[in-house]
Amino acid sequence: MFDAEITVIGAGVVGLAIAAKLSENNENVFVIERNKTFGQETSSRNSEVIHAGIYYPQNSLKAKLCVEGKKLLYDFCKQYEIPFNNCGKLIVASSDEEIPLLEDLKKKAINNRVVDIRFLSNNEIQDLEPNIKAVGALISPSTGIVDSHSLMKQLETNAANQGAQFVYGAEILNIEKIENGYEIFLNDSDKQQFSFKTRKIVNSAGLESDKISEMVGFVKKSLKITFCKGNYFRVNPPKNKLVKHLVYPVPNPNMEGIGIHVTIDMGGGVKLGPDVQWMSENIYDYKVDHTQQKAFFESAKQFLPFLEYDDLTAEMAGIRPKIQKPGEPIRDFYIKEESENGFPGFVNLIGIESPGLTSSLAIANYVSKLI
Ligand SMILES: Cc1cc2nc3c(=O)[nH]c(=O)nc-3n(C[C@H](O)[C@H](O)[C@H](O)COP(=O)(O)OP(=O)(O)OC[C@H]3O[C@@H](n4cnc5c(N)ncnc54)[C@H](O)[C@@H]3O)c2cc1C
Repeated sequence: MFDAEITVIGAGVVGLAIAAKLSENNENVFVIERNKTFGQETSSRNSEVIHAGIYYPQNSLKAKLCVEGKKLLYDFCKQYEIPFNNCGKLIVASSDEEIPLLEDLKKKAINNRVVDIRFLSNNEIQDLEPNIKAVGALISPSTGIVDSHSLMKQLETNAANQGAQFVYGAEILNIEKIENGYEIFLNDSDKQQFSFKTRKIVNSAGLESDKISEMVGFVKKSLKITFCKGNYFRVNPPKNKLVKHLVYPVPNPNMEGIGIHVTIDMGGGVKLGPDVQWMSENIYDYKVDHTQQKAFFESAKQFLPFLEYDDLTAEMAGIRPKIQKPGEPIRDFYIKEESENGFPGFVNLIGIESPGLTSSLAIANYVSKLI
């Protein structure tokens, strides 16, 4: 009587990783995605950084799944020849007052089992990054970058090879709880409505994950998502050749973002971002806010002294699905099987912002245990 055993909602990097994991041991895994293909939203609008796991509160899911996910991700990239670069990252202090903040970060990192982090001497800073300005710096050797499109393609292939069925161009409109499972109502790409029955659901719908949870009847104010944009500006050639590592300032205290930083992409390009722009409405507005160019320039100039205002070009933006509200302290990933709230077999993933890409394979293992 059930069409699907497990339905994964959303084919971003997290949904794909979950589908690849669950289809190892389950038949009839469906993946439903409203766009025409995978990874059209947050999963393709980010820094593509493999984070080390430095910043997150000890014992949080963010800390644990990031550290675990980083190792799984490097191994996966090697196994399937997915382009990656374990380039390392520097976190720099621009003034003496910021040195104690770096010391705190180092302690935090070690508590999170990121044990390779260390302070660089001034000579080492000069050798590694002769063109940056820093009064002190930490290096995180295990940080890197990954080609997220190739990663997602491989996850989709693995899931499909194990029998998972992908339905693209299908938007979920409603979900009803039925005996021993759920009925999902959706529109196909021709706006024809249909429904099917599934025993279990994994809600990895990114920016819509709070709404998907509400469809089934689980409404919680503390899980409401606020969209928070992150803009990026590109550093025009030839100045993109002047940095080789990812370079970050010290983060802001409540971790709304981790500071406008230098990201290197797999093509050797260099971009700055993302900033933190809370949106007044939850709308899909990916336009880069040009008026931010000055703020980017001033922020990055502190550690990139060679930068001129005209070296920057607006590039792209992504949107964070935040359950943290402006000015509030950092929130953890919300990943839970909702039996105790009356929804057995329904797994919610809400607020999967950074480091969701890094953590994706570890999140998949975690969800597999929950389900
Ligand atoms: C600016 C920015 C920078 C970031 N940088 C990094 C980084 O460097 N490193 C890192 O580890 N993480 C980073 N992240 C976080 C990372 O990108 C996300 O955690 C990750 O992409 C989340 O993946 P997801 O699959 O949960 O969500 P998404 O990629 O948003 O996928 C969810 C999918 O669900 C689908 N969907 C939604 N509603 C419905 C519906 N009703 N019916 C059908 N389908 C639906 C959507 O179309 C979408 O494809 C960054 C995020 C941002 C915004």
